[in-house]
Amino acid sequence: MFYESSFMQDQFYKEALSAEVFSYITKATEELQLESYVIGGFVRDFILKRGNAKDIDVVTVGSGIELAQKVANLLPTKPKVQIFKTYGTAMLRYKEIEVEFVGARKESYTEDSRNPQVEEGSLQDDQNRRDFTINALALSLNEKSFGKLLDPFNGIEDLSNKIIRTPLDPDITYSDDPLRMMRAIRFATQLNFTIEENSLNSIAKNAKRIDIITKERIVVELNKILSAPKPSIGFLHLEKTELLKRLIPELIALKGVEEVEGQMHKDNFYHTLEVVDNISVNTEDVWLRWAALLHDIGKAPTKRFHKKIGWTFHSHEFVGSKMVYKLFKRLKLPLNNKMKFVQKMVLLSSRPIVLASEVTDSAVRRLVFDTGDDIDSLMTLCEADITTKNPKKFKRYHSNFKLVRTKIKEVEERDRVRNFQPPISGEEIMKTFNLEPCREIGQLKEAIKEAILDGKIPNEYDACYQFMIEKAATLGLKNNAI
Ligand code: ATP
Repeated sequence: MFYESSFMQDQFYKEALSAEVFSYITKATEELQLESYVIGGFVRDFILKRGNAKDIDVVTVGSGIELAQKVANLLPTKPKVQIFKTYGTAMLRYKEIEVEFVGARKESYTEDSRNPQVEEGSLQDDQNRRDFTINALALSLNEKSFGKLLDPFNGIEDLSNKIIRTPLDPDITYSDDPLRMMRAIRFATQLNFTIEENSLNSIAKNAKRIDIITKERIVVELNKILSAPKPSIGFLHLEKTELLKRLIPELIALKGVEEVEGQMHKDNFYHTLEVVDNISVNTEDVWLRWAALLHDIGKAPTKRFHKKIGWTFHSHEFVGSKMVYKLFKRLKLPLNNKMKFVQKMVLLSSRPIVLASEVTDSAVRRLVFDTGDDIDSLMTLCEADITTKNPKKFKRYHSNFKLVRTKIKEVEERDRVRNFQPPISGEEIMKTFNLEPCREIGQLKEAIKEAILDGKIPNEYDACYQFMIEKAATLGLKNNAI
């Protein structure tokens, strides 16, 4: 248990309700002669000291919309109440806080939909419809019992033992609304909690039912799992319960180690999860975390065994970056510049690794040129990709990457090839050699760019002009200015 005395507990819960807005909700509740409670995530996160005090869910035995309007009337800022008639809910904002009001309800489900039939109910009915015991905790906002905890499923104990458990039979809970399977795994990942055994078995049993959930809702949960401190917790659950097979089969295809003639390759599924955990220490960017998750997906379709060289995955980066599009489309992830970023990271994911064995200026310059503003992200991905268990190699690879990072800085300061702009334009080439649009213009521009990237000439106008004149002569072009 958390506290020694109930006095301490009461004080603790009252503190949860110290925000000014609660006193107005209590006043409105009394004036309307209702009962109301704050419930769900706010209470859970307060007890866990997670500091998520901006989203407040209030349940009232009566009309949530009526209560919201009364509260808005009492509040000094007279905020606008947004009403969602179909759901019987209402929302208002006061200062930084968003409060959602709902009437206590009882739910019943049909086989083909996660949207229940709803009827009015008691607080207990409303707590019964909650997904997990830790999400069913409620604190009274009624004057007489202000701050009293209502915890019919012993959610407090589950919070202290770090357990995700459904209030009712898990088979029914998950089958009624299969999104809860994703939510269970998401909470387990975010909070580092254990999913109670019956619940986990039930998720595995009901995995097929995930098919009735829209991709958009699934992706919200996947993104939350990926944004957690250790996303592998969630992906391992998704894999074990066979949800992953239905959502991202490309990752399942990476599972397993094959051995031919005594030669083995690593298990790319578990490797991938290590990379995702590694990168999560260094970036909050969920798209870079997606890139880590998908960086090796091209390895399954490109895997070959050669008698002389063993296992190869030729062009897996290219194949993988093409697979990203299909995967994003299927999951209804955005097909915009975020997807392009993930594709680019996957495509370039092996480039710095090659560099790490021999760091030449021109190779670094080309890498910066091809990667542009995403060079830091790419280096972060490649550092996360070092999962060798050999401490000597681990140290060597990391120190080589440090060297690559230093070289990148040097080359950037000197050659400015990030977001490269050709120092000589096509128009100037046309003018200089009196040309109409033709192939040679492109050839000259390309030759100048290549010479800069190879380090033959600096990225400066005069040097490029001189180089252009010499190159043009070899193409038989005559300088107009002479
Ligand atoms: P977070 O803000 O981290 O997503 P939360 O618990 O506040 O956590 P919401 O999705 O805002 O999550 O849901 C608020 C509350 O509504 C939950 O705490 C839970 O009691 C209930 N709830 C949400 N979704 C479901 C669901 N699919 N089935 C049953 N209860 C749910």
